[in-house]
Amino acid sequence: MPGKDETFWKAIERLRANRIIAFQWRRADIRLHLEKLGFSPNSINTIPSNQSVTLDGVEQGNYVKAGVAKPRAYRVGRGLFQLIGDSDSLLAIAPPLIAERRSSPLLANAEPDRKRTRPLRTGRIHSRSADEIRQVIRDSNERSAQGRQKYVESEILALHSDYEFITCPCRDDCWCKRNACAGHYRLKDVTFDEFLKTYVNLWIPPRARENVKRAVLGGNPFNGRQRNAIKPLQRLRENWSSILDKVRGYDKCGLCDSTVPLVANVSNLYEGKMWSQLFYDSLVPFDTASRILIKRAGYPDPKRNFLAMNGQLFSDIRRLSEAYGLEVPGVRQLDSPYRLFPTLRVPAGGQPLSRVVDKIFYSPGERKVYRHRAAPSPGAISLSR
Ligand SMILES: [Zn+2]
Ligand SMILES: [Zn+2]
Repeated sequence: MPGKDETFWKAIERLRANRIIAFQWRRADIRLHLEKLGFSPNSINTIPSNQSVTLDGVEQGNYVKAGVAKPRAYRVGRGLFQLIGDSDSLLAIAPPLIAERRSSPLLANAEPDRKRTRPLRTGRIHSRSADEIRQVIRDSNERSAQGRQKYVESEILALHSDYEFITCPCRDDCWCKRNACAGHYRLKDVTFDEFLKTYVNLWIPPRARENVKRAVLGGNPFNGRQRNAIKPLQRLRENWSSILDKVRGYDKCGLCDSTVPLVANVSNLYEGKMWSQLFYDSLVPFDTASRILIKRAGYPDPKRNFLAMNGQLFSDIRRLSEAYGLEVPGVRQLDSPYRLFPTLRVPAGGQPLSRVVDKIFYSPGERKVYRHRAAPSPGAISLSR
């Protein structure tokens, strides 16, 4: 079969080269042309799935998984494919150009489905361009704003209520200072209850928030999916004043030549979120889906070495900044969620660095891919349509 598949893909490449199909296509777009070339309806139905992978590489078609053929297309949505290496694939990260293509009558019935088109979330940060990173972050914000939890809105509210922007205290030889740093975000002198309120707003789905709070404050039993949040938060509560002192005594940011105090390894993702909230400008949180992408990109597993992951993420952000002349203000501006919420005040210092870096890997809705992944039966198309 693979030999035949090769001519199959050559035929699709020719359709692309002659602009007969759009860079993102469905089986319906290729069917007529390939049937004329003698490909069976069965081949047309199965080969695209069997030899494709999702953009993040997590879901693989059967031939790819079995190692009998290389992936030839990305599966960018339900039944929607694009050739790997298609030069037009850059359009996926250039919405204005997509709009232009929409106006072309030739491509009218094959316009890319924006909702399902995801920018690439693979590779080390500095291996991508600043524009790609900006697009990935914008996509994360848009998805988050559409979701029920509206994480992106909570984060702006949290910034206004719980954080202050302090003038950069670093010496002239610190990387941040050498790169036009104006200041850093620091947790205000908040009570534990205030911290907890923000914690659940940021990281816990609405219906579990009260239960998590009651479990932390009153020891009520809680066996929900977020139960791993309880113990770290209880420990934090017991030591709140001394931890808060150390947190507020640390006046650096993630881009400084410095390491945060207190934190060693984290026991789970809820503890990672807790530390990120304490050191909002220095520590990047993770969740199940973003952890997979972080590891796939070549960074240390945050569950095994949270600080090493953070160190490498920020060191690559510095490299990106140096390559594109961003400096610290430009790094913060890679993320600008305020466009989505014009009524919310833009914070003085721009975005906290943990938010910027998190969203390079965090994409709400991406989780579904992992949760609902069905095991393929032998010989079947593993990517359901
Ligand atoms: Zn600074
Ligand atoms: Zn510094």
